[in-house]
Amino acid sequence: MGLRAIAITDHDTLSGYEEARQVAEAGKVELLCGVELTTVYERAQAGGRAWSIHLLAYFGDGLPPPVFLDWLEYWRQARRRRNERLAQKLQQLGMEISLAEVEMLGGEQTGRPHFAELMVRKGYVRDREEAFRRYLDRGGLAYVPREKPTTVQAIQAVRSAGGVPVLAHPGRLSWDQEEEEISISQLVAQGLLGLEAWHPDHSPANARRYTAMAARFGLVVTGGSDFHGVYTPHVTLGATSAGARVPYEVVDRLRALIRR
Ligand SMILES: [Zn+2]
Repeated sequence: MGLRAIAITDHDTLSGYEEARQVAEAGKVELLCGVELTTVYERAQAGGRAWSIHLLAYFGDGLPPPVFLDWLEYWRQARRRRNERLAQKLQQLGMEISLAEVEMLGGEQTGRPHFAELMVRKGYVRDREEAFRRYLDRGGLAYVPREKPTTVQAIQAVRSAGGVPVLAHPGRLSWDQEEEEISISQLVAQGLLGLEAWHPDHSPANARRYTAMAARFGLVVTGGSDFHGVYTPHVTLGATSAGARVPYEVVDRLRALIRR
């Protein structure tokens, strides 16, 4: 596709990096090591409201230090314990749902969508929507809160590992402009270094707005296609807002901030 550089930022895992590195070297594409962390952001001032924030972390060439890999592993195990409790609750409700079966669908990334899928397949619910509404969502019969780091904890972990923490696709958060301004300035005070302005879910006008905001806060601007293969058939690899590509200089700016 003529891409000069690519970053693979899988959710909460770096397990794809080594394989990608070999392919990148063979294909002469520059590869940035990265990950997208699922975090929870709570603001006492907003009445204790919480948002699920995706935080991108870029590490440049090579994996981050072992202490960061251990940190990822800690949270992976926390998610697994949560999945175990979820399976138990569903069993107590009379469903034959075992964690092993769900993990056949979700592997290392197993989460609620895979539970929902299995519940549909076994006929316990009509569709995924019913699985979430009656059982899996907050207020549902089998709800178990997810174990995930706070956004601030994640920013600190990424910075300690020499990486660059970037707020992913802020346009997907249900923030009004005031909330957005307060939240982002708070995250900047906690060490946030970048803002993902260019993304398929951001209109070009929004991308420009986030670019201006990044300049005001002294943040690096990044972009991505958020390409998820067959799960995002409407997205083209390398294409962001209205199909625009990310200029290569973003790679240089990120590299200037990475401390390895
Ligand atoms: Zn995301």
